[in-house]
Amino acid sequence: MSDSRKRHEALIYHAKPQPGKIEVVPTKKYATQHDLSLAYSPGVAEPCLEIEKDPNNAYKYTAKGNLVAVITNGTAVLGLGNIGALASKPVMEGKALLFKIFADIDVFDIEVDTTDIDKFIETVKAIAPTFGGINLEDIKAPEAFEIERRLKEELDIPVMHDDQHGTAIISAAALKNAIEITGKNIKDIQVVINGAGAAAISCTKLYLKLGVQVSNVVMCDSKGVIRKDRDNLNEQKQEFATNKDIHTLEEAMHNADVFIGLSKGNVVSPEMLLSMAKDPIVFAMANPVPEISYDVAVATRKDIIMATGRSDHPNQVNNVLGFPFIFRGALDVRATKINEEMKMAAVHALAELAKKTVPEQVNIVYDEISLSFGKEYIIPKPFDPRLIYEIPPAIAKAAIDSGVALEPITDWVKYQEELMD
Ligand code: NAP
Ligand code: MG
Repeated sequence: MSDSRKRHEALIYHAKPQPGKIEVVPTKKYATQHDLSLAYSPGVAEPCLEIEKDPNNAYKYTAKGNLVAVITNGTAVLGLGNIGALASKPVMEGKALLFKIFADIDVFDIEVDTTDIDKFIETVKAIAPTFGGINLEDIKAPEAFEIERRLKEELDIPVMHDDQHGTAIISAAALKNAIEITGKNIKDIQVVINGAGAAAISCTKLYLKLGVQVSNVVMCDSKGVIRKDRDNLNEQKQEFATNKDIHTLEEAMHNADVFIGLSKGNVVSPEMLLSMAKDPIVFAMANPVPEISYDVAVATRKDIIMATGRSDHPNQVNNVLGFPFIFRGALDVRATKINEEMKMAAVHALAELAKKTVPEQVNIVYDEISLSFGKEYIIPKPFDPRLIYEIPPAIAKAAIDSGVALEPITDWVKYQEELMD
């Protein structure tokens, strides 16, 4: 399909039959005057009074407990950059659609027109009572770090900036499995991280928790290797600055076991891949154009394990494997936060799911003969129906075990059955 046909198709999809991608649907009867007197005045006063008495009743009488806000200020939208709050709305509606279809979570998309950190935080805090959880989205670094940190501290509902943690969780699951396939030890692997933005920093932090040694990490930004002797480093970059006598990505790649790309397209050459260690792991995740194309990479190194952010090749690192199920698990136990334990539980649950026998219907959806754990299948596929009943219980358990679940699950069989419905 030509580029202009693709553009046209995308615009028609959004415009017809009605503008946008989501709508609000009533969940109660509304056929008679009596129904309406319950839905609205005077009946509606009763739940109001109950909630006034005890805020917990909001979860009993309103949609709060299954309602997530997808909130942005439009400063780092997809690969489009700072396009502003209003122009980001299609992306936020898209996220709402994904939450709904994958985890039956309702979403209000909220586009906040400010680049001021304090104003943004104040706005989110002021509207937080409406929601059971907050998904921060497409907010530029480094502001995103402070916004998330402060909202997590100040709110008692789960808050997650998906661009940071979603990618970190999915790629960490993929990395764990890829390392296992190579038979290498995570403590020994040499890792090059290309990019030092929101995604790269949070991914690296999670890989360290998984066992990667910080002394084995070399991070690069647009100016080359992040070295301790550079004077233009923000706080996050300083944490990963190296003393090694290397200055360029090219030098960094020499003998590396793992390349993680969260930077921009076409910055890795076949020669760089050839200089990597045996059985290299290459996650070229820049979107929409990866750091090196899938086809070139697998043609260059037969022993490679390759992943990208794209759906047209094996091993797609796609956030949709994470956020719907992480919020599902968090909401279902009324977790007060999404903490490190819950994120790590998601990593392990996703990694384990990739090792289980793939149901026939997944092969059919993806036009595959038989997907099975290996170099070309290191993480589950987004349309795997097992995600919804395998991942949320792991998150819920981690929330309970780490003491942040206000309503712990006791009957796990029943919970899993509910998730399957
Ligand atoms: P970001 O905060 O803007 O960070 C971009 C980083 O890339 C910056 O640190 C920048 O360096 C660095 N960079 C730019 N050109 C570079 C080059 N030639 N060599 C090395 N580093 C370079 O963006 P982000 O949100 O972290 O996203 C980064 C990329 O990852 C985007 O392409 C995005 O689409 C992709 N991504 C993919 C997924 C996925 O699931 N597949 C998820 C999230 C993000 P400076 O700091 O010097 O400016
Ligand atoms: Mg995003």
